[in-house]
Amino acid sequence: MYKSLVIKVGTNVLTRPDGRLDVTNISHLVDQIAGLKRAGISLVLVSSGAVGAGREVLGAQEDFGEVARRQVLSAVGQVRLMELYRQLFAGHGLYCAQVLATKGDFRDDLHADNMLNCFRALLLDDVVPVVNENDVVAVSELMFTDNDELAGLVARMLKVDALVILSSVDGLYDGPPEAADSRLIQEVDAGDSSVLRFVQEKKTSFGRGGMASKLEVAIQTANADIPVLLGNGRRQEVLLNLSRGTWPGTVVRKVNEARSE
Ligand code: GLU
Repeated sequence: MYKSLVIKVGTNVLTRPDGRLDVTNISHLVDQIAGLKRAGISLVLVSSGAVGAGREVLGAQEDFGEVARRQVLSAVGQVRLMELYRQLFAGHGLYCAQVLATKGDFRDDLHADNMLNCFRALLLDDVVPVVNENDVVAVSELMFTDNDELAGLVARMLKVDALVILSSVDGLYDGPPEAADSRLIQEVDAGDSSVLRFVQEKKTSFGRGGMASKLEVAIQTANADIPVLLGNGRRQEVLLNLSRGTWPGTVVRKVNEARSE
């Protein structure tokens, strides 16, 4: 069984179709995360949803330029999001902490070491780090492609046993996910790039990343010896499968790697 995890949750899992935070699903995810912690698993949560939460708080905004708008929505929304996580984790007797990062923090060794030390100290104190991109200052070259990239970097920095990426689909399909004859691909060999031909162009509504970027991050991370589990964050008790030894999604790994889930 995995002893350490990074779990990344996308905006489409955290918000409803109207863009408002899906408190019911967030609460269900926190319940599952608390269950994994009780089972002794060390974990870091990478959570999107700040911009969505900001949209919910401020409502329709006058358009004052895309960058400034994203900054305002994320600045306001991150507070709303963390307040919700604080309350939900407290319900399980757990503390959570906010960690915001930009791409620059991974480029230079000093910043990366500082961040690694902070993660280690938080985990030692049994606090759940909740990581997001620092959208307020991450503009142009400081921006990650999306939070999938950020989650992959955190997983590699912490050398965790697995990275879990939850979105609103079960995983990678061999055709359009909504088509009746498409089948879920249960295992992908990170050494076989031909699998990229299965990626559908269409991206789900609110998040920044799509399946292409998820698979790219998954292949890179798996090639660094960290298996990646793509799954549906709206599936009941999806995370509890991690302790059951089955995964109802796509697992990306090096095929010669020993199986441990
Ligand atoms: N950092 C963004 C947010 O919290 C999400 C980025 C993404 O969709 O990957 O809203």
